[in-house]
Amino acid sequence: MRFANYAGRAALTDGTRVVHVAEASGGKYDADPAAIFEVWDEFAAWARTVNLTAEGAKIDRAQLGSPSPTPRQVFAIGLNYRDHATESGLEPPAEPPVFTKFPTSVCGPYTDIELPTTTVDYEAELVVVIGRRGHRVSEADAWAHVAGLAIGQDISERTRQLVGPAPQFSLGKSFPGFGPVGPWLVTADDLADPDDLGIGCSINDEVMQHGRTRNMIFSVSGIIARLSDVTPLLPGDVIFTGTPAGVGGARKPPVFLKPGDVLSTWVDGIGTITSTCRTGTSYPTQPA
Ligand code: ZN
Repeated sequence: MRFANYAGRAALTDGTRVVHVAEASGGKYDADPAAIFEVWDEFAAWARTVNLTAEGAKIDRAQLGSPSPTPRQVFAIGLNYRDHATESGLEPPAEPPVFTKFPTSVCGPYTDIELPTTTVDYEAELVVVIGRRGHRVSEADAWAHVAGLAIGQDISERTRQLVGPAPQFSLGKSFPGFGPVGPWLVTADDLADPDDLGIGCSINDEVMQHGRTRNMIFSVSGIIARLSDVTPLLPGDVIFTGTPAGVGGARKPPVFLKPGDVLSTWVDGIGTITSTCRTGTSYPTQPA
């Protein structure tokens, strides 16, 4: 089942056709995508009965927004692939480094990215959206708390991310447009193995990253267990699960995003999201 935010309204899609949830359910389910996560399990059971071929209208992808447009919490995991830890000059972590992308950075799958500086980088990531509240969730129970999976880009302004004697990643990763998510949410039962998905991204059709999610150091269930050990996970919460090797800042010479670049990111079984970069501004940050 594929859940979408279509023109700001909760919808179901097969990638070609789309139906609005409020109409198809006779008003039983809310038009607000965020409200759906509060009743996700019941909603998902109903959604699997909807016949998209009979009821759907042709999709206009420009209308797609982030499946969870207003998450209360956004988590992101650093250094979750060995090859990316190595290219960053760091040891694979024993516990996952966690930061946030502030919720206003979350945006739709086909948006523009304003580049505030000349050191903005890309990170292709699998994104998890939570569908059931959970505190101290075990790894065995973790997938039951997942509404579905989407594609994300953890866009990162590297200078601000790494500034100061004890770098705090979150602000440098939270400019508007720095969290594209989409194109829709795919439930785990629609994927042959939700723990082993091909992932990658390209700039102007040149492949920059490619990997498989089975190479994550902390799996989806491992991440959920560790995050929820501290903070309850809430319906609609978004988790960026880390990026494989090939980011621009680790290249010699570095490859940062430039105005006009077209950044496409894919996860097998989910689809592709595409952002276009354009010029922005920012108060200058002192490099570390
Ligand atoms: Zn990341």
